[in-house]
Amino acid sequence: MAVNSYNKTKMEVFSKLWIGDDHSFRCPECGGQLIVIQAEPLESYDTPATKYETVIECSSCSYHARAESYTILGSVKDFDMEHIEVSGWSESGSRFVYKYEHLVDYNLLSKLRKTGDIVEFLIVDDYVIQVIG
Ligand SMILES: [Zn+2]
Repeated sequence: MAVNSYNKTKMEVFSKLWIGDDHSFRCPECGGQLIVIQAEPLESYDTPATKYETVIECSSCSYHARAESYTILGSVKDFDMEHIEVSGWSESGSRFVYKYEHLVDYNLLSKLRKTGDIVEFLIVDDYVIQVIG
């Protein structure tokens, strides 16, 4: 299933929040300051890391969005244009391989698969949207 432009914009907004780039943490509709109004850990058994439910809203217009997001450490096991397999270790120390849909640059994934480097993946609403560090 392809990501529509609303969801893509939302994921970009949440990725900036997670990466902590304050200067660009702006409303995609009016450019106003976005405010986090809720960020709570969720009970989840289907993910290798603690998931957070986050709700943000714009201080100037009616834009608001919510997403479930978390980061995991792992390496790129395999990928294609739509899917990525991440292999890594969960918080409890067990090995996992998870398959996600992704919005990450193909060349970057290609490079990471070749090197096998352990990196941090940002997952928003079950999509891998960024590789951090
Ligand atoms: Zn706004």
